[in-house]
Amino acid sequence: MALEDAKNQVDQAFTRESLRGLSYENAFGGAVSFLRRRYSKDLAGVDVAVTGIPFDQAVTHRPGARFGPRAIREASTLQAFDAPYGWGCDPFSLLDIVDYGDMAFDYAAVHDVPARIEAHLGAILDAGAAPVSLGGDHFVTLPILRAVAARRGPVALIQFDAHSDTWADDDPARIDHGTFLYKAIREGLVHPAGTVSVGIRTDNPDTMGVTILDAPSIHRDGIDATLARIRAVVGERPCYLTFDIDALDPAFAPGTGTPVWGGLASWQAAALLRGLAGIDLIGGDVVEVSPPYDTTGATAIAGAHVAVELIALLGWNRR
Ligand code: MN
Ligand code: MN
Repeated sequence: MALEDAKNQVDQAFTRESLRGLSYENAFGGAVSFLRRRYSKDLAGVDVAVTGIPFDQAVTHRPGARFGPRAIREASTLQAFDAPYGWGCDPFSLLDIVDYGDMAFDYAAVHDVPARIEAHLGAILDAGAAPVSLGGDHFVTLPILRAVAARRGPVALIQFDAHSDTWADDDPARIDHGTFLYKAIREGLVHPAGTVSVGIRTDNPDTMGVTILDAPSIHRDGIDATLARIRAVVGERPCYLTFDIDALDPAFAPGTGTPVWGGLASWQAAALLRGLAGIDLIGGDVVEVSPPYDTTGATAIAGAHVAVELIALLGWNRR
């Protein structure tokens, strides 16, 4: 394939034959899938399934993350030409990747959504594919972790976020993006001692045993020290990574529901994700991208980059 392909090969969301390799379709035209991968519900032999979960009815403030998957997919078209920078390998040529499309649900049957997300992710995991989910608000990570833990047992968790999401919530019927980690720990889905929250800048006195690497500590101590702390927490455990886009400073990701200043610059997030190469990643998500508040499109661009870095982390161990 070469740039010449743009002259006569379009709509690779439908027409792409190989599940590996780069895509040279014009970035500005054609049907949009994540990274121009083929839309497919066939997961046979698939290594990575990218899927959208356009659910945002668990927010405490600004909604709009239901439009996140669509905006992230569109932003990703510009990244389909090149292997992600800084890895020294091409994960798109090491992995069979499809866009599994979005999860279907009845927007008015909110109580039904958690079980649907768990089943949707369960189907991906049972097919042997690693899920990369595009939110949606941060509630979606709770049923994702239920699906993961049902198959793998409790896992290590790396959370990028401005917020701890460990506010107490003992009502099983509540659906709240600010309590996903509280419930995940209470339900035994993750190891608290193997869980680290990166970029935090809100107070929550009860850490539930989670290691907190707040944003000021990252700005003060730097990337290498932060990476050493994350690795010390996660160790060799199977690990899930959830990236709430509000971990980034509002200057880099204004389009999100609960922005907080003093956050990570995009270069810091990129360096941290690349510096995690070699962890035993089993899947991940990027959540809380809210296009209605994304006045420049920067947030969707950041979300697409995070999702690509997740794929690179999954590919690193196959190189
Ligand atoms: Mn969050
Ligand atoms: Mn947050």
